[in-house]
Amino acid sequence: MSKSLFTKLSHLGTAPCDEQHPRAPVALPAIRTSTVRFNTIHDLYDTYKRQSSGERIVGYGRMGMDTHAAFEEIMCELEGGQRAFLAPSGLNAIAMVLLSFLSAGDHMLVADCVYGPVRQMDKTVLQRMNIESTFCSMRNADEIEAQIKPNTKVLYIESPGSLLFEMLDLPSIAAIAKKHNILLVTDNTWGSGIAYRPLELGADISVVAVTKYIGGHSDLLMGAVVAKDEKVIKTLDINQYALGFSTSADDVWLAIRGVRTIDVRMKRHAENALKVCEFFDQQPETLQIFHPAYEKDSHHALWKRDALGSNGMMSVALNFTPEQTKVFVETLELFSIGYSWGGYESLVDMVDVSFLKNHAYWNASYPSLVRLHIGLESVEDLIADLSQALDKARHHKV
Ligand SMILES: *Cc1c(COP(=O)(O)O)cnc(C)c1O
Repeated sequence: MSKSLFTKLSHLGTAPCDEQHPRAPVALPAIRTSTVRFNTIHDLYDTYKRQSSGERIVGYGRMGMDTHAAFEEIMCELEGGQRAFLAPSGLNAIAMVLLSFLSAGDHMLVADCVYGPVRQMDKTVLQRMNIESTFCSMRNADEIEAQIKPNTKVLYIESPGSLLFEMLDLPSIAAIAKKHNILLVTDNTWGSGIAYRPLELGADISVVAVTKYIGGHSDLLMGAVVAKDEKVIKTLDINQYALGFSTSADDVWLAIRGVRTIDVRMKRHAENALKVCEFFDQQPETLQIFHPAYEKDSHHALWKRDALGSNGMMSVALNFTPEQTKVFVETLELFSIGYSWGGYESLVDMVDVSFLKNHAYWNASYPSLVRLHIGLESVEDLIADLSQALDKARHHKV
């Protein structure tokens, strides 16, 4: 019987209950251990041998035991991959991938809409290691082809992007990557396996900040790297080990708890966000709404073709001065001011528009951008809050 992903998300990674274990907990315990005991020296050597040949077998605590293995299995199911590797944060997971596949003298082509700190990684770490990166919009095949060099080893993208949620044509980008024998890596924090599945659209590696929708409760930091190809998996396996990435069993336990409800949470976030889009559409200050599931978003057709769902992330360009935008953001009562997203609660961030100058999709004539994470609260309450704050900003005298 082939089961739906949502059924599997309720059953994967539970403790066995059989003749040998006639009573079992429903929730798998968090197995905290720094090291592992072996019955005999033969078992220790055998473990080492099997581990060296790529088997996911535990010889030391850093790799994690049953709790970690259960969550890795769930991540593979979510993303449609064969192996998942965990890291202590989403940004660490990105670092794991880039340090595994790039060497001195290599070049990487990066979408200009990627998560901001990736630019920091380029400036601070990769450039120092003589790894060159070129940022481009990745929305045009000719532009991508023109930027590829003989030493381009990685195409690194994020779809939809982190601030304007523009969709990239992932299958077309995958075809270009394949033609030039370049690894296609994508940040799938937005989709988290529920709303978007890049490995099925042709990506080689999907990186997910578990911190966001998978954790779902703003109480943990974690990243996951999911791959499907044997050679790619082998490279990740030896590099993850060599670099010593490790995650706490308690955090993994929380991530498993989060993932059990990701489907219903994402649906509610998405439903609420669409209603907030409709609200902003009726406001005179709204210049553009950025949310691909909204039918007026210019990437809606691509979203419809490639995505399976949506979430609570959206941005709005407002015809407000920076001062008025600040009044709007600070007057909100139900939206906390802050980074991050994917938790149960609503968040707001006033984006520094000077940062968007690197973004080909941004219309530089817009004076302000507000990014919202629409939480699980009653959407009527959220809209009433947005309405009172817009009103206050509207009447703010400069
Ligand atoms: C938050 C985020 C990350 C980084 O995750 P952390 O766990 O905070 O390091 C990476 N990519 C995207 C798109 C994110 O939103």
